[in-house]
Amino acid sequence: MKKRYSRLRRITLAIACTLSLSVFVVNCSGGLNLYGTDTDAQLGKQMDDQIRQNAAEYPIFKGNPAVKQYLQTMTNEIVKSEHVQYRGQFPYVVEVIQDDKTINAFCTPGGYIYVYTGLMKAVDNEATLAGVMGHEIAHAERRHGTQRMTKAYGLQMIAQIALGQNPSQLATIGANLFSGLALLKNSRMDEEDADVYSFKYLQSTPWYPGSIKFFFEKITAASGKSPGGSQSAIANIATSVERLLSTHPLPQDRIDATNKRIEEAKLPPPSEANLRSQPYQQIKRMLP
Ligand SMILES: [Zn+2]
Repeated sequence: MKKRYSRLRRITLAIACTLSLSVFVVNCSGGLNLYGTDTDAQLGKQMDDQIRQNAAEYPIFKGNPAVKQYLQTMTNEIVKSEHVQYRGQFPYVVEVIQDDKTINAFCTPGGYIYVYTGLMKAVDNEATLAGVMGHEIAHAERRHGTQRMTKAYGLQMIAQIALGQNPSQLATIGANLFSGLALLKNSRMDEEDADVYSFKYLQSTPWYPGSIKFFFEKITAASGKSPGGSQSAIANIATSVERLLSTHPLPQDRIDATNKRIEEAKLPPPSEANLRSQPYQQIKRMLP
């Protein structure tokens, strides 16, 4: 009896998957995703555990706790946007990584956000940081990671999970994808999509919505400098930009696209009130 029930349950799950597939195809123009949002949350938790166990590669910032709190407050403000759907389902928690040479941030599926001290030091104001945070939140919200998993693993794996044939498979895939960082390697289309949504999210915040362009301008300027230059600080920036550009392509195109969005939204030029460069200097001073 018990066996019959569980078989029925598996069949029901398989049917539910097929149904959700057809619903998704009809409803979403952002790309096919065969996974439920619980998979995003589960993968994010697994990746977060691995990051915390890997201090050599991801040294967690142990300095002033106000730095992390500041980023968390900023995140909480951004996810209040009406365009954020998974506020209650994804945790949207921030961690700071102590690495001045990496001008970057990333977000796992399911909303675990990591910000490098290198990014915090490189930007000039709060709004630019908020623009990058909005972009990272969008990768989780728009579910780019599980979309790529759908492309990579397709129907076969989702059917196996649904039928209970290989329950540990998700954990294995989470670990493998993370070690190769495949889930974090966003396509150019994902990057554009995340920029679009960063702009939308910031419209209901105190920060200038087009501010991610200042980040692109910064990295474009830094990438023009020669890594072999005499100033070692510039050499360091150029090296980090190399790394950043491998996951965030074509800054000039993205500056142009952001300018177009600013024009379409008829935004007035930014001011100190929505860039907040003065208050941001205090935050920078908290970094060692
Ligand atoms: Zn990105």
